[in-house]
Amino acid sequence: MTDTVRRHVAGLAPDALPAFVHDLAALRAHAAAVRAALPERVELYYAAKANPDAPVLAALRSAVDGYEVSSGGELAHVRQSVPDAPLAFGGPGKTEAEIAAAVEAGVHRWHVESEQELHRLAAVLTDRPQASVNVLLRVNLPVGAGALDTVALAMGGRPTPFGLDPERAEACARLLTDPLGPFGALRPRLRLRGVHAHLASGLAAEEQLALAEQIVGWSARLAERHAVALDEVNVGGGMAVDYADPQARFDWTAFGEGLGKLLDRHPGLTLRIEPGRALTAYCGWYATEVLDVKQSYGEDFAVVRGGTHHLRTPATRGHDQPFAVLPVEAWSHPWPRPAVTTGRATLAGQLCTPKDVLARSAPAAAGLRTADRVLFAMAGAYAWNISHHDFLMHPHPGFHYLDDDAAAGG
Ligand SMILES: *Cc1c(COP(=O)(O)O)cnc(C)c1O
Repeated sequence: MTDTVRRHVAGLAPDALPAFVHDLAALRAHAAAVRAALPERVELYYAAKANPDAPVLAALRSAVDGYEVSSGGELAHVRQSVPDAPLAFGGPGKTEAEIAAAVEAGVHRWHVESEQELHRLAAVLTDRPQASVNVLLRVNLPVGAGALDTVALAMGGRPTPFGLDPERAEACARLLTDPLGPFGALRPRLRLRGVHAHLASGLAAEEQLALAEQIVGWSARLAERHAVALDEVNVGGGMAVDYADPQARFDWTAFGEGLGKLLDRHPGLTLRIEPGRALTAYCGWYATEVLDVKQSYGEDFAVVRGGTHHLRTPATRGHDQPFAVLPVEAWSHPWPRPAVTTGRATLAGQLCTPKDVLARSAPAAAGLRTADRVLFAMAGAYAWNISHHDFLMHPHPGFHYLDDDAAAGG
């Protein structure tokens, strides 16, 4: 926990909790370090779905080349939050209205997810003679050789609603490059620029590199078959975030060096990556207080204000959210202060479901007392925005965006 966050949370009144607290100075520093580790010919996009809070998007602006958006809603929101930033527009099931809005917004890159989407896009372009679109084909490649064998995660090459199987990507490439084909009249306004793939999440740098090599290799062969230059390959996001080890970081230095070597072998190529979680997870905290501590059949349960309806991540991923305790000494009630007695406790929320658990049987909860504060770390990504806020109708949390640099005039 940063000092900025600790001081801020210590100063909040109990009824200002729970609260999401973001350290924007820490976020900027982290994103700048990621950018600095990457070669010049790697563009860094931020996947807005990880955390689309406007102050977060704005804080990232100086470190990223653009933002990846996956819906009309994200498109409009990101445009408004960071008006001039380049956008990559992806996502399955784009509606006609979303397609028209994205064409009119002039998105920088378009990730095509299906053949029909390409037809819809072409129809929109036919109606708008001034508009043009740069296309990357999102491909669902069968990968998994070598370093990837060890990764027990959802990978490409399996049935999914995302992207194009290789032979469907091949068909789309034909449609886009054939001057006599149905989109011939739209050239060069509808232009194939390369390939996009987002095949896995939770990969370490070495595994991400092995994946990038496979994606670029396949893309280069596709371009060759269709006699087009391979301008760009977006190798996706999914850089590992280890919730069991809050100090661990994805090895951006090794990743950047590896991508540099890959680029050396493809002189005309621009690579793009679009991490979400690995950029913002570390710079957000979910701060709350212990409402009650109870013993049940020999185990301690600390019930905190709020829960997984605000921070759903541990429930969806099945992990324990790391946390730190901010002890509060004041206790003014006449009854005994309930406290953890067994050396560990399960931190549960206020919901009437056994799934509302933030951390299970955690040793870090030793000695935890009612009214102590708890700061859940790594709550800067896939937290509030993926949670079922209104289940049980508890109040929404506060949102705090701390900016020490700005306060210091820097
Ligand atoms: C979710 C997503 C990302 C970001 O994934 P992280 O695991 O947050 O890095 C990037 N690209 C696409 C297409 C996605 O769907």
